[in-house]
Amino acid sequence: MNKCVIPGCRREGIWQLGVRARLIAGATSPSHPTKKATDAAFAPNLPAFLCDKHAYSGTLLTLIVEPRQYKQTRLRVIAASDQHPHRTVKIQ
Ligand SMILES: [Zn+2]
Repeated sequence: MNKCVIPGCRREGIWQLGVRARLIAGATSPSHPTKKATDAAFAPNLPAFLCDKHAYSGTLLTLIVEPRQYKQTRLRVIAASDQHPHRTVKIQ
């Protein structure tokens, strides 16, 4: 059974997380000119899952993009609960 990645959640993770880089419509990749719109440069799935409740109740995902030189895409997941101190303010 895949465990939900949310700390403290004991439900089964049935939704797998992943990230894709897709070519936007009207663009051409100089390094891969045969790629068509919506083709992916990379689309790895993570060994990280959400339960159905957390997949549909809402999530805050923070994506930090760092360049690498190894012709690889590496994904890492740092999961947090919503119990950490936080503050949300309305923009006026
Ligand atoms: Zn969960």
